[in-house]
Amino acid sequence: MNSADSLRVAAALENLGYETSAKPESADVIVLNTCVVRQSAEDKAIGRLTSLKSLKISNPDKVINLMGCLVGIRGAAELKERFPYVDVFSQPSDPRPLIDFLSDPKSQEKERQQNIEDILDEEFAYTLPDSRKEQMVSALLPVVFGCSHACSYCVIPLRRGREISRHPDEVLADARSLVSQGVKEIILLGQIVDRYGHDQPGYPHLSGLLRSLHKIEGVERIRFLTSHPNWVSDELLDTVADLPKVMPHFELPIQAGDDSVLQAMRRGYTVEKFMKIVEKIRTRFTTLSIATDLIVGFPGETEAQFKNSVEALETMRPDMTHVARYSPRPGTHSALNLADDVPEDEKKRRFRVIESLQEKITSEINAAYINQRVPVLFEDKHKNRWRGRTPTNKLVFVETDADLKGAVKDVRITWAGPWSMIAEV
Ligand code: SF4
Repeated sequence: MNSADSLRVAAALENLGYETSAKPESADVIVLNTCVVRQSAEDKAIGRLTSLKSLKISNPDKVINLMGCLVGIRGAAELKERFPYVDVFSQPSDPRPLIDFLSDPKSQEKERQQNIEDILDEEFAYTLPDSRKEQMVSALLPVVFGCSHACSYCVIPLRRGREISRHPDEVLADARSLVSQGVKEIILLGQIVDRYGHDQPGYPHLSGLLRSLHKIEGVERIRFLTSHPNWVSDELLDTVADLPKVMPHFELPIQAGDDSVLQAMRRGYTVEKFMKIVEKIRTRFTTLSIATDLIVGFPGETEAQFKNSVEALETMRPDMTHVARYSPRPGTHSALNLADDVPEDEKKRRFRVIESLQEKITSEINAAYINQRVPVLFEDKHKNRWRGRTPTNKLVFVETDADLKGAVKDVRITWAGPWSMIAEV
């Protein structure tokens, strides 16, 4: 979400005549877009922000914009006191305060002022800045902002606000513009992407949006993330099965494999219900991949409960697990009410157990790809090899002199490891 938001700001700044600068030292405007989903992300953001102070002191005209979840939706009073050298504070996804700030009539020429007013009149598009046009094969496109769920550990609803689906016309216009800029794959984003449209009467749901996007000429592939098990409908699965451009890849976070932990997390499902959805997806598709998220060391998680998570992954056999050590986030239910009582070393141990289990599962799944022919959408060249992805989101490398950027080619997999594969065209 932040990557997409950063490009959105860059495109809005380009409309004002700014260009991308390679170094913060030479930039007139610095936008620091921040994530606070875990304490480590917040610490990193604060570190970067602190390092900008000397730049501002040596060049007071430099504009510093702090954006994203560190600012959140509650305003920036406290941050203003702590970081007085920041000129502009912006909520997640919102370029407007920065553009507004730069539009100070005292410091702008008339023509530029007009340009700014044009930009302020329009809803900001998710489009690419010039430096990325014809460069990006795959683009992220937010369709739902915020989240109205209240998982007990999660700071996102507090920082990104309640769920708001974007108007389908806006999404389609952005998708068309991205395709005209060379994009072949659109990845729809939402904290719960399959909630798309549920909050806005008259809007299509995700399946309807996918059907409209599917008709856009030039779109080769569509993906969507992240799903919540309670909102994966039969209609959505039918749509994914029907539409060849929609990739059979599901991001379906389990978060824990133990019912009491899931209840304390306020996830709204049991392990049994989750597994039924996984089974339904697996029955519906012959080629597919499922990735999941899992938190280890949630408050009170016992060894037996952790083992249930291990067992759940063994049953589910996801293609990928994004594993995180629990980190209490300010203002969340779990931070306020539950003791963070699993020692850090134990969290690290549990993390490693999940990591190595996942490596084993992924190696086994990927080994079945050897000698298979799969269509790969190629994105870029990395160390002399072309890099692309299968419909199931597996990373594939191919050595060839041909220019494969943006092409979908049938390849034969010759080697498969847990994190990538090698193939011949
Ligand atoms: S559904 Fe996702 S974004 Fe929403 S509160 Fe739960 S973990 Fe956070």
